[in-house]
Amino acid sequence: MRLRNVPGSEAIVGNSPFVVQEAGKTRGHWKAAFGNDHPIHIEVGMGKGKFLNTMAMGNPEINYIGIERYTSVLLRALQKMEENPLPNLLFICMDASELEQVFGEGEVSRIYLNFSDPWPKARYAKRRLPSRQFLARYDKILEPGGRIEFKTDNRALFDFAVEELEPAGWTARQISYDLHRDGKMMEGNVMTEYEEKFSSAGNPICKYIVYRTADFLQNNTESTTG
Ligand code: SAM
Repeated sequence: MRLRNVPGSEAIVGNSPFVVQEAGKTRGHWKAAFGNDHPIHIEVGMGKGKFLNTMAMGNPEINYIGIERYTSVLLRALQKMEENPLPNLLFICMDASELEQVFGEGEVSRIYLNFSDPWPKARYAKRRLPSRQFLARYDKILEPGGRIEFKTDNRALFDFAVEELEPAGWTARQISYDLHRDGKMMEGNVMTEYEEKFSSAGNPICKYIVYRTADFLQNNTESTTG
């Protein structure tokens, strides 16, 4: 989603109290930035922020951080916050390839990827947010036992994402190729902007929930051995 340059968006984002400026300085101190000890969940490539806004309203015991690289898009999320400020939601305007400079080891409890850009040309595969290169970044910042949730209507991107898991050391615990007809995975589902648009056009939505393979094996061994 690239809105045409919105005049003044850089200044608005640069001065907003809801956007953390020079986010690298907060690395390792995100809970302090929220003033509590609640877990941190992030959405990478959040767009206009509908999903995170709804999540933050419904889950005040979780701190949410939205990451979006374009000021012209982030601006829309700020407008929602100005109407209804939420103490457990912050934004960062950055490229996600720099996540490790902004979050310390294990600082994040959950990562959401929603309707990530497909980058269809093979030579740009490493720019896809569920690629093995990004999974390696998520591995650095996600706490032990932490998970990634990915939704998309783009079947080719989803197939690619599933294939990336094993070589990158991740295992799917739940997977659906038609989320909106999957009663169990739909429980508590919050629709994103793109999800509303594409599901109302009749596109099936794919979703996975993945854990590091080592965490997954350990949990399964524990549950089978009692
Ligand atoms: N997650 C929203 C949804 O589901 O409605 C928006 C989806 S939109 C297709 C993808 C968004 O991710 C765009 O706003 C884009 O600018 C952002 N994005 C893509 N790659 C990114 C990156 N490397 N770092 C930060 N944002 C990124």
